[in-house]
Amino acid sequence: MNHEQSRALYDRALSVMPGGVNSSVRAVRPYPFFIENGDGGHVVDTDGNRYIDFVMGYGPLLLGHDLPESVQAAVQQYSTEGPMYGAPTEVEVELAEFVTRHVPSVEMVRFVNSGTEATVSAVRLARGYTGRDKIVVMQGGYHGAQESTLVEGEGNHTHPSSPGIPESFAEHTLTVPFNDPDAARELFEEHGEDIAAVLTEPILGNYGIVHPVDGYHETLRELCDDHGSLLIFDEVITGFRVGGLQCAQGKFGIDPDITTFGKIVGGGFPVGAIGGKSEIIEQFTPAGDVFQSGTFSGHPVTMAAGLETLRYAAENDVYDHVNGLGERLRAGLQEILEDQAPEYTVVGTDSMFKVVFTRDAPDTFDGHCEAGCQQRESCPRFESCPKNGHDITQAETERWERLFWPAMKDQGVFLTANQFESQFIC
Ligand code: PMP
Repeated sequence: MNHEQSRALYDRALSVMPGGVNSSVRAVRPYPFFIENGDGGHVVDTDGNRYIDFVMGYGPLLLGHDLPESVQAAVQQYSTEGPMYGAPTEVEVELAEFVTRHVPSVEMVRFVNSGTEATVSAVRLARGYTGRDKIVVMQGGYHGAQESTLVEGEGNHTHPSSPGIPESFAEHTLTVPFNDPDAARELFEEHGEDIAAVLTEPILGNYGIVHPVDGYHETLRELCDDHGSLLIFDEVITGFRVGGLQCAQGKFGIDPDITTFGKIVGGGFPVGAIGGKSEIIEQFTPAGDVFQSGTFSGHPVTMAAGLETLRYAAENDVYDHVNGLGERLRAGLQEILEDQAPEYTVVGTDSMFKVVFTRDAPDTFDGHCEAGCQQRESCPRFESCPKNGHDITQAETERWERLFWPAMKDQGVFLTANQFESQFIC
């Protein structure tokens, strides 16, 4: 494959943008390919190479690159009528109504401009509502580029994972391994009265895709209830992807107090949202005292794109379609692995998937689970699936970067360059 144009663009980019990119995950070795345009489930780079796209913008593009006419028309209408006003519009009310109608725990919603902004505001809201400072996150979880969650370490021995974050931020952030109810119980025993919230993805989507074991979220829900803490589900990835319009919380039957959204709810435009019970969400200014504001929040073009995308999904069996494709793909990958590399693992659910290079991974797993994990109870290999961030890091993660990603790229398959990030099907 010829990549001359991409290489030249990257050289230019390197002199005017740090690392040549605007989001660090895009800086792949030796250089990223620059995209010219999307085409259905494919992208075409500036050198004319065509790839089947399993990145899908890191999740927002449920419908792929060819937006249905209704979405295109709405985007066009709202961008030509004047892109934004700094005053409310009907379309943001309509999207809020749609979200509250479909997501079980959400009675009210505040729109913002990114997943990061959503989790930042959710953490501030939980702290403001409870009058407590500490939050609990999962080891290996990701909640965007925010000070409170960029931490490493265990329990209350945490420190910032990036320069530029004062140690004092990490002092208020405790961590537990995902899927370890005893660790969560111990932490609550010691710090329960100071914990404002537990913040977790319902399925770890930034760490090789790790499913909750039966009862784990129920334990977190109970611990939060017993100690007056809030449960925050970060559904930035899983929202309107896993479990369809009900999101992952509907699929698992768990009612979080606060939910953060991003990605799909903006139909491919910059978005984030914080939803939950009215009593809590109404603590945001101007209804309450927890400050929250944004020039671009509830942007009409984004709201219209999100609304028409979700309407299209509701009316056209989109979830049956993409989840069916996901199941076929995971089963096919599983079949190939069984034949060629039985020690590797196919993980995922709904329209998400990943291959984890689990060879030599000692501790909790040494095999692979059934494609999908929807049949958690009946799956004979469930016990040997990756259960937390540690299991995933035990895998040969560099194999993905060194071999798999470049080889697949050369075959015309666009995957995330990082072993930990999920792949998406449109
Ligand atoms: N939370 C989760 C679970 C995410 O996966 C991400 C980004 N992938 C974020 C928050 C941050 O979203 P954004 O990149 O839109 O700021």
